[in-house]
Amino acid sequence: MKVLVTGGAGFIGSHLIRHLLSDLDYAIVNIDVLTYAGMATNLSDLEAYPSYTFERTDIRDYRDLQKVFAQHKPDAVMHLAAESHVDRSIDGPGEFVSTNVVGTYNVLEVCRHYWNTLSETKQRAFRFHHISTDEVFGDLSSTSEAFTETTPYNPSSPYSASKASSDHFVRAWGRTYNLPVVISNCSNNYGPFQFPEKLIPLVITNCIKGAPLPIYGDGMQIRDWLYVEDHARALALILKFGRVGETYNVGGLNEVSNISVVRNICEIMDELRPSPHSFASTYSELITHVKDRPGHDFRYAIDASKIMAELNWRPLESFASGLRKTVNWYVDNDDWVKQALSNQHLDRQNT
Ligand code: NAD
Repeated sequence: MKVLVTGGAGFIGSHLIRHLLSDLDYAIVNIDVLTYAGMATNLSDLEAYPSYTFERTDIRDYRDLQKVFAQHKPDAVMHLAAESHVDRSIDGPGEFVSTNVVGTYNVLEVCRHYWNTLSETKQRAFRFHHISTDEVFGDLSSTSEAFTETTPYNPSSPYSASKASSDHFVRAWGRTYNLPVVISNCSNNYGPFQFPEKLIPLVITNCIKGAPLPIYGDGMQIRDWLYVEDHARALALILKFGRVGETYNVGGLNEVSNISVVRNICEIMDELRPSPHSFASTYSELITHVKDRPGHDFRYAIDASKIMAELNWRPLESFASGLRKTVNWYVDNDDWVKQALSNQHLDRQNT
């Protein structure tokens, strides 16, 4: 089984590839252009695998994509490459349209033409799996029912609008061209190798630096959190056993307010590495409320009963254990954090 993964040098992609390669013995072709969020070193432990290939390719480059498909002849595609940070989408929505919408269209089109050349048996076994977000559903009040697979799309930010759009393209390619597609919509992931601009790694790395811990508004926004390795396992199950044309919601069964997440991190940090900063005897003193994000969604919650019933998946990591592992990893991997932050200047001119 050879799987072409797009965006495999990013946060979720690198965990997914590690799982597919080392636990499931799949062959992997990783397509990634290495934006600021992608680091080839995230997968350096896998370079020795003969069944792992990296192609530095931009999904917006149709011809390059064609070459990669023709050369590697994958049995399945798992499409993760995307611009993924909501704040960046508010500052510069154009990149999100070009990568998440036009890039997804390119991957679909190249894949469709490639799929048309396969034998009937290979066509039937083929999968195009789009990895998407719960943010496409918009937000919930504190009392609303969690998102199901049939919740209407209602995206709020340029990021979620671009992911909603790409989901629609994927479904259309399934319906119109019979490409065997499957989509999964997942809640907020956390764990090692996440770029330190997202809430959890940002707060941990700011604790280490003694920098303010910025909280949007009152911090009462609620997110469902899933440990990234649990997501990787869910994705592998969906690829193998998910039904063609279906959507699967994936979540951690774990709703927490942003302010609680930050306080939890501060408590773990107080225990692991008592504050060396003279201006703060405990890390929670660094919490700083800042002006809320425009259009900020209040609550996301996922009803994951379909994947649990059909594919027998469950999250294995509790939020307490997963958060502790994550904090430990960032504390122990200062060099990775420095390298990631030094990539921040990367933009399309030099990728
Ligand atoms: P990430 O930002 O860490 O990684 C994205 C990867 O895509 C990077 O390696 C980057 O170099 C690559 N990439 C970006 N533009 C590209 C292009 N034009 N061509 C080739 N590669 C390109 O993102 P992530 O958090 O790992 O998310 C991966 C996917 O999962 C995204 O599609 C995201 O929408 C989705 N998702 C993320 C979360 C989450 O909490 N992080 C939750 C649900 C769904």
